[in-house]
Amino acid sequence: MDCIFCKIIDKKIDAKVIFEDKEIIAFKDIHPIAPVHVLIIPKKHIASINDIEKGDAALLGKMIITARDIARELEISEGGYKLLFRTGKNGGQEVDHIHLHLIGGAALHEEIRPLEVEWQ
Ligand code: 5GP
Ligand code: ZN
Repeated sequence: MDCIFCKIIDKKIDAKVIFEDKEIIAFKDIHPIAPVHVLIIPKKHIASINDIEKGDAALLGKMIITARDIARELEISEGGYKLLFRTGKNGGQEVDHIHLHLIGGAALHEEIRPLEVEWQ
């Protein structure tokens, strides 16, 4: 499968890995948008949030706990941070292997502004 993140898991592409166990790997984003920008991914190839199954719940929970632990380790817990799953085209997802962004280390500006639209 031609998946960049599977290649990082298989060590065919280099990455600055900061955590790894048998289910999860976390590495620095190659184009950081904040002083701390880490991607937490499962070793199992899941394309997006649209593709998760009930049996993946523990794995997804573990990704969030891993993000929390990395935030502590990198000393951004107190200041706060953002966790983000982009999903699909409108969500801006560019890599089709599910990944949780851990973004912090500075005050983050909201990129999503309220629109003048009403819920249907
Ligand atoms: P998305 O837009 O899909 O939510 O985020 C994909 C992220 O993966 C982007 O922030 C991008 O900078 C990062 N990325 C893409 N290719 C690579 C790579 O080869 N190595 C690393 N470390 N990050 C990558
Ligand atoms: Zn993959």
